Amino acid sequence: MSAAPDSAPRVHVRAPGKINLVLRCGAPGEDGYHRLATVFQAVSLYEDVVAELADDVTVTVTGRQADVVPTDGENLAVRAARLLADSTGTAEGVRLHVTKNVPVSGGMGGGSADAAATLLACDLLWGTGLARDELAELAAELGADVPFALTGQTAVGTGRGDVLAPALARGTHHWVLATQSWGLPTPEVYARFDELRPDPAPPRLEDGLMAALVGGSSADLADYVANDLADAAVALRPELAGVLDAFDAAGALARTVSGSGPTVFGLAADLADAQDVAASVRDAGVADDVLLVTGPVSGARALESMRGV
Ligand code: ATP
Repeated sequence: MSAAPDSAPRVHVRAPGKINLVLRCGAPGEDGYHRLATVFQAVSLYEDVVAELADDVTVTVTGRQADVVPTDGENLAVRAARLLADSTGTAEGVRLHVTKNVPVSGGMGGGSADAAATLLACDLLWGTGLARDELAELAAELGADVPFALTGQTAVGTGRGDVLAPALARGTHHWVLATQSWGLPTPEVYARFDELRPDPAPPRLEDGLMAALVGGSSADLADYVANDLADAAVALRPELAGVLDAFDAAGALARTVSGSGPTVFGLAADLADAQDVAASVRDAGVADDVLLVTGPVSGARALESMRGV
């Protein structure tokens, strides 16, 4: 007798979106990718991937902006599953279901979180048993932000942003996110950056930043929050200047664009302050949605695994 669909082997993995507390951008390298020095922090806005054993690899997507996410071989979750299958030689397939909370093309690494969650989910589902560093190698093949979505927490990224070193960071920070219903294509933001800054200095992180992370004080960390891509994002979508202004008017400790935008995040002193900042930014009417999150949080992890039951 064949198993009922809801008793098929299934794994549920959750992976976080990220913000770039600091993003310093240099010139493109020989591979065409810009050299970065960035600090990623994983925040409490999550993508959920449920993986069920199947004959081939398919995906369905629901949640925030699901209608603009491809469901063919371009989907990063499908690419992740196929890469793992190819590299391990498994004959298994998977039915993936992605629930999106991270805005699409928002500069928060939502697609990267889906890819990282899928690698872990399929590894558990298929019993391919890769070590974390083997998964991280596959993750780097899928995209510069994918390895960080596996590890989460707070990390320094160099190279294309994919060479990660964990950062010692104490405490929990309260972040307010202003998201948009529209996205900014990352290549266009980098192209505009090249026009605005034709000869950028090699990217480096400011002295004192790592001490501020270890110290854990949001007020100290605020001095370092910055993004070299912010001007390019604003040049492409001038209304982002109004979002940044709204955070200033709200009294945020610091604010900038995450990744290549258009999500803008602000740092608050504590939960009550975050609620005040969020209310003020919401009232300004400059964002599609205003969300409160905390960071750091852990990377991709299995919530539920029912293999073979
Ligand atoms: P990053 O910060 O890593 O540059 P982002 O958050 O700005 O990424 P994503 O939402 O990760 O952007 O991905 C944007 C592009 O990837 C879109 O063009 C989208 O169509 C495509 N894409 C492919 N798979 C996915 C997925 N599972 N979720 C979201 N976007 C996806």
